Amino acid sequence: MKKLFIIFFVLFITSCGNKKIYMEDLSDKSIDFIKKYCNRVGISVTFEEEYSDVPIGDFISQSISPGSEIEDVVVKISKGVDPNLYIENHVNELGRVPIMMYHGIHNVDAKYVGGNVDKDGYQRTSSAFRNDLDFYYSNGYRMVRLIDYVNGIIDVPMGKSPIVLTFDDGLDNNIKVIGLDDNGEIIIDPNSAVGVLEDFKSKYPDFNITATFFVNGGLFNQEEYNEKILNWLVNHGYDIGNHSYSHADFSKIDSDKSIYEIGSIYKMLNSIIGDKYVNIVALPFGSPYNKSHGNFSSIMSGSYEGFDYNTISTLRVGWEADYSPFSNDFDKSFLKRIRAYDNNGVDFDILHNFKLLESNRYISDGNKDLIVFPKDKISDFNNFNLEHFSY
Ligand SMILES: [Zn+2]
Repeated sequence: MKKLFIIFFVLFITSCGNKKIYMEDLSDKSIDFIKKYCNRVGISVTFEEEYSDVPIGDFISQSISPGSEIEDVVVKISKGVDPNLYIENHVNELGRVPIMMYHGIHNVDAKYVGGNVDKDGYQRTSSAFRNDLDFYYSNGYRMVRLIDYVNGIIDVPMGKSPIVLTFDDGLDNNIKVIGLDDNGEIIIDPNSAVGVLEDFKSKYPDFNITATFFVNGGLFNQEEYNEKILNWLVNHGYDIGNHSYSHADFSKIDSDKSIYEIGSIYKMLNSIIGDKYVNIVALPFGSPYNKSHGNFSSIMSGSYEGFDYNTISTLRVGWEADYSPFSNDFDKSFLKRIRAYDNNGVDFDILHNFKLLESNRYISDGNKDLIVFPKDKISDFNNFNLEHFSY
């Protein structure tokens, strides 16, 4: 019995001697927790602050890696982004944002200047559309969803600028279906707008390809595929909005007809894709031209055959970039768009507008939750409740 006890005692001593304490993973722990932990395991901790794009006060790194034998540790904590980077990148989140207005994308040769299919450039060739996308990308623009822009969610990297793409009229060349694959999925014509966009999605993964399509009663005018198209789009990062049932001119109809024109489209979209459409109306012909028009309130809210709707934003047929969602001038209920066409750099075509943007474009700090702008722009900031920094 005594012998057995001695063996146990020796084993106990040995296991105590071998017992090592290993470093814990501190990456998701609070500073308070880290201090208590180090105190408990008998090591010292030194906190060092460092510039970083992780939020201020958050953990960056630990000198003793998790799972290693425990030792005195240095923990690096973020003191936010180096303000010199804002200066170097000309960060200005009160600058302007281009919302591009497209209609048809045609796989034909251009009849007019710079890839315009029609005289006024509402219709573009597929190759001109590719050139446009290359131009936006190489000039430092990254796409954001229209609904995110409207809601002030602008998630593009430091030094880059947001751009929004829209398509009106639900033309079949926006997303031309050429058949179904073995799984019943739509096969998209690579020269239709979405075909080109999907090609750019694989070519430039950081472009954040997206667009919002504004449809009429005929949806995408491909009867057998319309429902599949709507579902495919909302499941692949695109959005669908309202362009009125019959492409109505709201300055020429009464209020009941206005409610029908808007409400019937929302109701139809809801029956096909549930709540996955956006409550945004692209005004046909850009009409009415001001918000004081009697029909504007019927565009913004109403009830059609028991279906209640509310519109967040309307889009005009504008000519220039709209404002930052954080600017005093921003009015999300009545937004301006740029007609995406080519006119040798004059009359507010793409080139003309992007030249104008050089002096006042929105340039991101890379953090969607922090609004950064130069100090001399502070009087233009519309929401001091948001986390912000001026330099
Ligand atoms: Zn239209």
